[in-house]
Amino acid sequence: MEHWYNALHQPQTAARAMLGQDVAYDRVPYFYSDQYDLSMEYAGYVEPGGYDQVVFRGDVQRREFIAFWLGGGRVLAGMNVNIFGVNDTIQAIVRAVRTVDPGRLADPDVPLDDFLG
Ligand SMILES: Cc1cc2nc3c(=O)[nH]c(=O)nc-3n(C[C@H](O)[C@H](O)[C@H](O)COP(=O)(O)OP(=O)(O)OC[C@H]3O[C@@H](n4cnc5c(N)ncnc54)[C@H](O)[C@@H]3O)c2cc1C
Repeated sequence: MEHWYNALHQPQTAARAMLGQDVAYDRVPYFYSDQYDLSMEYAGYVEPGGYDQVVFRGDVQRREFIAFWLGGGRVLAGMNVNIFGVNDTIQAIVRAVRTVDPGRLADPDVPLDDFLG
């Protein structure tokens, strides 16, 4: 992925590999972007068509929400739009590889931490 975060972190793994170390780049894929008044962060990875549903949490009309891509009941990726300070938790949820209840995931009153492993 041609994004700043990968450009920042992948060289360390590449350099270690060149030095003969047994290393793997295992960070959750991530990017951020600001498009005029739309700030977004995306974490995870989903192939086109590689998900069952998208769950929205928040107000899509006001463009303040989190979208979660689910496959097999698990969160494969998440994108926070104009909501700040939550992407570390989204990455932890992706990494947890845990089955989630879509209804609870969509409910902003349920803390995101509840979906961690
Ligand atoms: C318009 C645009 C918008 C983007 N928006 C986003 C975004 O919103 N979010 C995000 O995550 N990513 C974004 N990206 C992608 C991100 O900027 C790149 O993935 C990242 O900068 C790549 O870093 P890099 O160090 O690999 O390469 P670069 O940042 O391209 O650095 C390569 C450097 O090598 C130098 N160089 C090239 N050839 C030579 C040479 N022969 N000798 C000496 N120096 C050389 C170049 O001058 C340059 O300074 C955007 C990219 C573009 C073009």
